[in-house]
Amino acid sequence: MIRARLRVVLSVVVVSHAVLSRAVPAQDLRPYRPAFDVVDYALTIDLPDTGATIRGNALLTVTRTSPSDTLVLDLLDLGVDRVTVDGRAAKFSRQPATVAIVLPHKGGSRPQYKVSIDYGGVVTDGLIVRQDSAGRWTYFGDNWPNRARHWIPSIDHPSDKATVTWRVRTPAGRTVVANGKLMSTHAVRDANGAERVEYVWRESRRIPVYLMVIAAAPLEQFDLGETDCGLAELQRCVPQSVYTAPEQRGFLPGPFARAGEIVQLFSNLVGPFPYEKLSHLQSSTRFGGMENASAIFYADGGFRRRSMADGVVAHETAHQWFGDAVTERDWPHLWLSEGFATYFAALWTRAARGDSAFRVQMAEIRDAVLTDTTVVQKHPVIDTIETNLLALLNRNSYEKGGFVLHMLRAQVGERAFFDAVRSYYAKHRHATAVTDDLRAEMERASHQNLGWFFDQWLRRPGYPEVAATWSYDAGTHEVVIRVAQSGRFGAFQFPVTLAAIDSAGVAHRATLHMVATSGAAQQLRIPLAAAPASVALDPDVELLAALKVVHE
Ligand SMILES: [Zn+2]
Repeated sequence: MIRARLRVVLSVVVVSHAVLSRAVPAQDLRPYRPAFDVVDYALTIDLPDTGATIRGNALLTVTRTSPSDTLVLDLLDLGVDRVTVDGRAAKFSRQPATVAIVLPHKGGSRPQYKVSIDYGGVVTDGLIVRQDSAGRWTYFGDNWPNRARHWIPSIDHPSDKATVTWRVRTPAGRTVVANGKLMSTHAVRDANGAERVEYVWRESRRIPVYLMVIAAAPLEQFDLGETDCGLAELQRCVPQSVYTAPEQRGFLPGPFARAGEIVQLFSNLVGPFPYEKLSHLQSSTRFGGMENASAIFYADGGFRRRSMADGVVAHETAHQWFGDAVTERDWPHLWLSEGFATYFAALWTRAARGDSAFRVQMAEIRDAVLTDTTVVQKHPVIDTIETNLLALLNRNSYEKGGFVLHMLRAQVGERAFFDAVRSYYAKHRHATAVTDDLRAEMERASHQNLGWFFDQWLRRPGYPEVAATWSYDAGTHEVVIRVAQSGRFGAFQFPVTLAAIDSAGVAHRATLHMVATSGAAQQLRIPLAAAPASVALDPDVELLAALKVVHE
């Protein structure tokens, strides 16, 4: 990782970055199982008529990127019957959480292996098996953060991205939806000779294992049509559809009525939509929504109660770019996924419902940060200590991360911000990134050194606590405002807008640049003919801070 600390050493940094890029391809910067890179999964799953016993074959194409004679894959619960490497039976040892496979010797710096695993058993997680309210058996993948290992032999970490082909054999009466493009459906017999329908789906872009999913349930398709035409990466338009239980069809298009506009907005702001299609599914996910690449799974309650709104659609759709196409290389950088999805959902609000609705949403996001007493005040957004991955789904990763992007946009300016977002996305799509990759693009686009900004907002807990007192100087006809920060979380550097509201309701604005020294108050004077009716701190909701203003 290269940190461009000062612009005066930029030429040196650029050279060393180029050297590093040649020596270590970005896909090899993998903190987990670094000797191996799975480049493709071909996954065959046989689903039963009832219950949770599955049979599977996983054929992995694996590149060895540094010397090692044993490939270790993650797999919980299920039994392994047979392993072959390049078509020959291979020795393996089954541990409770892994399968260790002995590889034959191969020369070359990056030899490749075809590793096949026959496995099966009763799935307990990762693939959620349950009967719906009408008693029908349903199967939905739900892998985040590392639950794919309950049903997919894999290198189960976001740093290892791969293409995937799904071959799912299911009894008639279920529709199968998975990542990517539907390649074929036809009648087959499964390993036990039973009649089945086989669906083959292929995702041609590299995605992390936590996004590799199938749905197999009595789903009905509601076609949203071709959207985003001229703005997609893989074809001219993005076919979008919604899949629900038959009983929920009357709800549609409901929150998906503007799904095409949502994809179009983000394509315009960030880059072409990255996948073959975009499906939205009523599912059994344990989350409100899960951004599985090209097949978003939503909790079924929102469909059954018909309470779902387009905010969650915008959030999960934004993830197709942030999290799915550009994936955080390691968990402490989760905000690159959730903070972006939070902020881009707010940008959808702005596009759909205007500036005041956007400001209301940003104020709600800020309130969520300021009222959090468990995480925000104790941990930085980039949290290298937390080991419970589910605990990272917190107000730091989502709301604080989202609001930091809002402040970054103000810090560098609208044009530099979106230029940097676009180049960050273009450089890292179908690969991985860490926070410094975003910082590098923001610094390049803005010609600013932003180390202080990223450090104070993302590598320290808390936020500024800002108190302002004001008085009116009738002699000079000025509103005199004194602003101080408490320093409870250390002193911050930030601009804050102050507005003196006159008796006619007109706001007279000025900006004060607070320096990072706690305690000492800074003063600002706003010319005004008569005493103001009131003074507002941060009237446009641009600052993540606890704010208090009093008349002296
Ligand atoms: Zn999210």
